[in-house]
Amino acid sequence: MTQALADLLYPHIDTTPEDWYRRYPPRSLPEGAWVTRFAPSPTGFVHIGGIFTSLVARQLAHQTGGVFILRIEDTDKKREKDGSVEEIVRNLNNFGLTPDEGIVQVDPEEREVGDYAPYTQSERIEIYESFAKFLVARGLAYPAFDTEEELERLRKIQEAQRLKPGYYGSFAKWRDAALDAVKAELDKGSRPVLRIRAPFPTEERLRFTDGIKGDLDLPVNDQDTVLIKSNRIPTYHFAVVVDDTLMRVNLVIRGDEWLPSAPLHFQLYQYFGLTPPRFAHVAPIAKMDGDSKRKLSKRKDPEANVTYFHEQGYPKEAVAEYLLNLANSAFYEWRKANPTAPHTAYQVRLDNMGVSSPLFDLVKLNDVSKDIIASYSAERVYEEGMAWARVHNPRLAAILERDKAYTLRVFNVERTGDAPRKDIVNWSDIERACGFFFDDLFAESIAANGYPMPEKVPTEDIGRILEAVIAFDLARSKEDWLATMRDLAESLGYARDVKTYKKNPESFKGHFGDVMMVVRVALTGKTNTPDLYEILQTLGAERAAERLRAAAAQFASA
Ligand code: GLU
Repeated sequence: MTQALADLLYPHIDTTPEDWYRRYPPRSLPEGAWVTRFAPSPTGFVHIGGIFTSLVARQLAHQTGGVFILRIEDTDKKREKDGSVEEIVRNLNNFGLTPDEGIVQVDPEEREVGDYAPYTQSERIEIYESFAKFLVARGLAYPAFDTEEELERLRKIQEAQRLKPGYYGSFAKWRDAALDAVKAELDKGSRPVLRIRAPFPTEERLRFTDGIKGDLDLPVNDQDTVLIKSNRIPTYHFAVVVDDTLMRVNLVIRGDEWLPSAPLHFQLYQYFGLTPPRFAHVAPIAKMDGDSKRKLSKRKDPEANVTYFHEQGYPKEAVAEYLLNLANSAFYEWRKANPTAPHTAYQVRLDNMGVSSPLFDLVKLNDVSKDIIASYSAERVYEEGMAWARVHNPRLAAILERDKAYTLRVFNVERTGDAPRKDIVNWSDIERACGFFFDDLFAESIAANGYPMPEKVPTEDIGRILEAVIAFDLARSKEDWLATMRDLAESLGYARDVKTYKKNPESFKGHFGDVMMVVRVALTGKTNTPDLYEILQTLGAERAAERLRAAAAQFASA
């Protein structure tokens, strides 16, 4: 009877799961190699959580000699958006997370790679039906023709009786329908869904060890959940089990919102007579919102969307490095011990991943990013900064490009010593951090904000300080420059240094720092900058003198 039902539903299918197991044989990989995958739905939005799990999944695969796959789970056609597969692929590539197998490139010619193809679920319908037929033939799945209205009525009855909602046990109208009844519906042109036949009632428990959450004990699935929709497209639950099996995935790393479905997935593995893969359920990335912790929200948090990191110009290494910090607390110690190793050399550990949500903190990301940019050469800052600016800030790109040698000198300010300056947070921050070196940007900042001169210093001193700097020969050393400035400070009634000032504040107008602040503001329009002597050297005598004169003129006329 069940074979007859299987033939009735799937007359066109003459393959069995065995055929597919042969078609997609076990991989020959070293012992202990993990085959992992990222399996997003193409909904037009790449969540930073997807990059987080991909990073972990890819690194685990690579450090064990395994394979990292990108599979597209497009079984929900309603939620699908055009161009989103390309968006996913581009983002993985941008973050250095190019998959080894699956959909690997945007270019249609080189799009798909691997022996376990196709890697897009909508192209695997025949495979799913073959597995579906197997279940029906064994009485483990059955067609159901309930209309939306009937299901709604069922839900109301269960609600009124305070019973568990769902399609199960005696509520499962089509569970034991006669072959003729099914035939009659099909003849009418109705299209059934396919449901799993779950045990009901059952007290059984599912026990398994999750790679992250540890030993779990969950109720066995007792719901006759839909496996294949009436349009022949499988649900996620069915497709994921078939695909992970046939692609020989042995470690499923996925969001913990799927943990409640794990019993259904285990049931399917059991019905097919298969050993389930290892599972690792990752808690979603959260953030602090006031005093409370909440999941990063697609709607409220721009940083939930990976495009944010490109738009802001975070180097991909910075994001990866920060995400590894979130993934493994052990990463921090490793980084301290291996300050110059690439992050890909770190051995990710599932058992070091938190059971609860890691907290995403932009301030910490910025610190990591500053450190990384500080470790780059001026040339690299130029290349990556330009690549970003060409797309996101063409005006800045034009300015940086105008005199490359000068721009490189700018990026080299306080970069080469033992403790390089950590002032650039990301590429969009170049304008804030270094803009003053470029005349147009400098002029704009002065036009907008004026010169924020220290209030302690009277106007006539400003003129004298700036004159002295104009007169200073930049061929002389930094020591000479500092000594000259200290002498000048003293001659104008300022303390040579802060210590002297603090001992006797009432006998001075201010101290050396105030005098230098005047120079800083005149040269840069800012109160916080890199070393002044380096700035003077970088600007060059001519440009520096021009700025100093302009500022002096401003205060002379005031
Ligand atoms: N398509 C599912 C999602 O986007 C994949 C979950 C999984 O990794 O199994 O959430």
